[in-house]
Amino acid sequence: MPAPDTPGKTMMISGKNSVMRRFPLPILLCLLLSVADGSVTLRAAARAAPPVDPAAPDVAAAAAERPASGAAKARTGVRRQEGRRPFTLDIPKSVGDGEAFALRFGAEGAQALDLDLDGKKLHIGAPSPASGFFEALLPVPLDTGKKRLRLALTIQWKGGGKEVLTRIVAVKKRDYPVQKLTVDSKFVSPPPEAAEKIRRDRAEMRAAVTSTSPVQYWRLPLARPVPGEVTSLYGSRRVFNGVPKNPHKGVDFDAAAGEPVAAVEAGEVVLVSEHYYGGNTVVVDHGLGVASAYLHLSGFNVRKGHRIARGDIIGFAGDTGRVTGPHLHLSFYVLGESVNAEPCLEAERR
Ligand SMILES: [Zn+2]
Repeated sequence: MPAPDTPGKTMMISGKNSVMRRFPLPILLCLLLSVADGSVTLRAAARAAPPVDPAAPDVAAAAAERPASGAAKARTGVRRQEGRRPFTLDIPKSVGDGEAFALRFGAEGAQALDLDLDGKKLHIGAPSPASGFFEALLPVPLDTGKKRLRLALTIQWKGGGKEVLTRIVAVKKRDYPVQKLTVDSKFVSPPPEAAEKIRRDRAEMRAAVTSTSPVQYWRLPLARPVPGEVTSLYGSRRVFNGVPKNPHKGVDFDAAAGEPVAAVEAGEVVLVSEHYYGGNTVVVDHGLGVASAYLHLSGFNVRKGHRIARGDIIGFAGDTGRVTGPHLHLSFYVLGESVNAEPCLEAERR
């Protein structure tokens, strides 16, 4: 049920480690089959065996080491002068697929910044009041076939004039874990009469995660939505009843039914709806192309249009939609692209 995949930005993550090492027992999984580009998403949950591949990305460890920019070595803030004026630009040299990365730009006299990452565009009308820099999150799509992405920055100078910088970001193919699961066939094949509902849900989700406020509400790291442990990683390759399905486009957290779910950051509630796969779903727009989605809720605590603060309770964990047990599925979008939220989250609930 995760929203459609569209171009977006993502935080970086890397490292290897297996969630199953931390959770050796069978865990309650959200079997979410999401289809990029607004196609099919299947959600179900079940008691499942540990992922077959123990070498899953160790997002938690990676996040602890570099919560803000995730990627490999950043090109740090050396002031360069390629054109008329000096500037500072921080971006990673390489980013894994399914990850977001942070960009930071600063220059005296810069009025606005337009970014174009392989066709995904973002306008930043002002620097972050907190840092004084122009900040952005940018996504590298899961399973992108590209080995490198071209990033163009167009600087709008105060008093007129523009300048364009280009950079190349290398894509590192991530080795996501495989999960083999056996579930009731009803979780894999929805009834024909559900097709129209599923189509509408997808369109609604896509619209919610691609329309974004021009104001930056987010800062990194993001708050954790629940105190529970992660039980299923983003990007897991899922094989249901022997049939390969779409990878898991979200992060599952252990959460009991009725447990409060907190917004990972301030923003505006742009979707409150009941979806076939996702169940009761809330989407929060955090600005500048960043959005979070909370699925399978047992109840809502916000309405569409509400402005909320970081940590506000948006609803309560549950097992609505295609799941077999209560948990929280968190999806994270950058410029409409589904990316791994985990590296962007703070290490522990505060
Ligand atoms: Zn899930």
